Amino acid sequence: MTKRAFKAESKKLLDMVINSIYSKREVFLRELISNASDAIDKIYYRALTDDQLTFNQSDYYIKIDPNKDNRTLKVIDTGIGMTKEELESNLGTIAKSGSFQFKNENEIKDGYDIIGQFGVGFYAAFMVADHVTVISKALDGEEAYKWESEGSDGYTIEPADKDEVGTEIILKIKENTEDENYDEYLEEYRLKQIVKKYSDFIRYPIKMDVTESKIKEGSEDEYEDVIEEQTVNSMVPIWKKNKSELTDEDYENFYTEKHYGYDKPLKHIHINVDGTVRYNAILYIPESAPFNYYTKEYEKGLELYSNGVLIMDRSADLLPDHFSFVKGMVDSEDLSLNISREMLQHDRQLKVIAKNINKKIKNQLLSILRDDREKYEKFYESFGQQLKFGVYSDYGTNKEVLQDLLLFHSSKEKKLVTLEEYVSRMPEDQKYIYYATGDSNERIEKLPQTEIVAEKGYEILYFTDEIDEFAIKMLMKYNDKEFKSVSSGDLGIEEEENKEAKEQEEENKDLFAAMKEALSDKVQDVKASKRLKSHPVCLTAEGEISIEMEKVINAMPDNQQIQADKVLEINVNHDVFQSLKNAYENDKEKLNLYTNLLYNQALLIEGLPVSDPVEFTNDICKVMVP
Ligand code: ADP
Repeated sequence: MTKRAFKAESKKLLDMVINSIYSKREVFLRELISNASDAIDKIYYRALTDDQLTFNQSDYYIKIDPNKDNRTLKVIDTGIGMTKEELESNLGTIAKSGSFQFKNENEIKDGYDIIGQFGVGFYAAFMVADHVTVISKALDGEEAYKWESEGSDGYTIEPADKDEVGTEIILKIKENTEDENYDEYLEEYRLKQIVKKYSDFIRYPIKMDVTESKIKEGSEDEYEDVIEEQTVNSMVPIWKKNKSELTDEDYENFYTEKHYGYDKPLKHIHINVDGTVRYNAILYIPESAPFNYYTKEYEKGLELYSNGVLIMDRSADLLPDHFSFVKGMVDSEDLSLNISREMLQHDRQLKVIAKNINKKIKNQLLSILRDDREKYEKFYESFGQQLKFGVYSDYGTNKEVLQDLLLFHSSKEKKLVTLEEYVSRMPEDQKYIYYATGDSNERIEKLPQTEIVAEKGYEILYFTDEIDEFAIKMLMKYNDKEFKSVSSGDLGIEEEENKEAKEQEEENKDLFAAMKEALSDKVQDVKASKRLKSHPVCLTAEGEISIEMEKVINAMPDNQQIQADKVLEINVNHDVFQSLKNAYENDKEKLNLYTNLLYNQALLIEGLPVSDPVEFTNDICKVMVP
């Protein structure tokens, strides 16, 4: 019997598979089971279309049979089998199948994830075995044949004895090495685990003889090992079941079984789409954020199945960043099992699925918001920040999807409100959507800048998250209404008092100029305030950068320091203004002192540190002891 060599290009590739540093050797079983399942599919189909063939459902199965004594692992199927020619052509040319066209060596990059990249399916067996035997009897063949190989040096084919149609693959499992444990592929529990992980929902039974310790018959405390054939996969995937057959508990169990999270899911989304792109998906909105959610370590993604076979643990392309908290899986018949990560990124079907999923998640969230506000607020507490990051990032391209999912605290309701709710109750004369920023709702409530807006009876949104104002700048408008900070220059409120402030400013031009000089470049300007009612002083900003933004950006590491154009506003109706006037006329030094005091007070109200605390306290003492 002569040994045949693999085709030249196959040999190179095979070498790489065998020596690959592929981290998950366990996937060899997935590949073999999936081939077996395909082979059964073929015979199943033939039986459906050919009256001469009669089969019972029980004739279709896959069996896994480990044997520790001779270190073999058999994968047996009752599928369509292979003829001699098929053994030759299917197993003699590696990477013949699939879409891979092997052109030159350089196209194989360092052997990593070679299985995923080229679909070398069957050859994955060589990652755990140093000798592989395939005995197969084809439905259409007279005789059975045996294909054998020890890896890249070639293979042999010879006649064999096998009565039933089907294929038996015998792996001679490698000996353990210093850094690899191969024994585990002979352990029942481990094999069961691998089947559960990757092939649980293969629709034919995957059987295995399982040893169980049972109480001896007729005895009370004596145990004996009983070997029982068990089906180790569950066969019908939950996602292919009808929604009406399933309970909330079923979905919760699946969530836990899959380790999607350790909490209970807040809501599940079960999708069955049977259109141009067919897919099933079960998605979960978790209740709480994983501890590393808002860090770089967190990786988003959904499990991806191709017709019941897991092909990727975490497909990031299926989830937009703004919904990165969603967990779950997608199964599509239209995806090839061996599609690579790179190919997936450009896969048209996958793009359609991803788009669809994005929409479904949005709609689900909207319906929770509408129908179960309490639940939504719970969700928002965990993931609201992510939604706001979503609005901010990608130059606001996702604002349409996200704007109606946002909630902010409001001055009117003392609770979280949507932008839609805000806009729907705006009085007719109100031009803008007003907001105020600060560390907490309580602090914002006391901000002097909110006075005039609040007095007009306008609602104010409270921005307490650092991201809030940045997100809103991206949004720019909601329902054609622009956002306006209560600290911005023009509030769009025409008032009698406005006129008075203008007059006073005109009248006391020199006083304001002197104050500005005392503060030199700390502020852009000193003005008579149009917004203050009872408070003596406040800081506002002119231009695009708000004081809050200055705070946030300057607190970030490695960021260029920025400066808001600050304006010190003085309430001309406050008694303090009289004192300023007196000081200006009689005592310039006192004016400087007062100006500095007021400026520092305004800083404190804004939550900014005073520039020189010692000087500030000394200044207060000077006022106390004239
Ligand atoms: P792929 O599964 O991507 O086609 P493989 O290398 O895993 O690539 O298998 C090559 C071919 O060998 C399969 O397409 C199939 O025709 C045949 N084959 C593999 N395993 C079996 C099996 N258990 N029964 C019948 N045919 C098989």
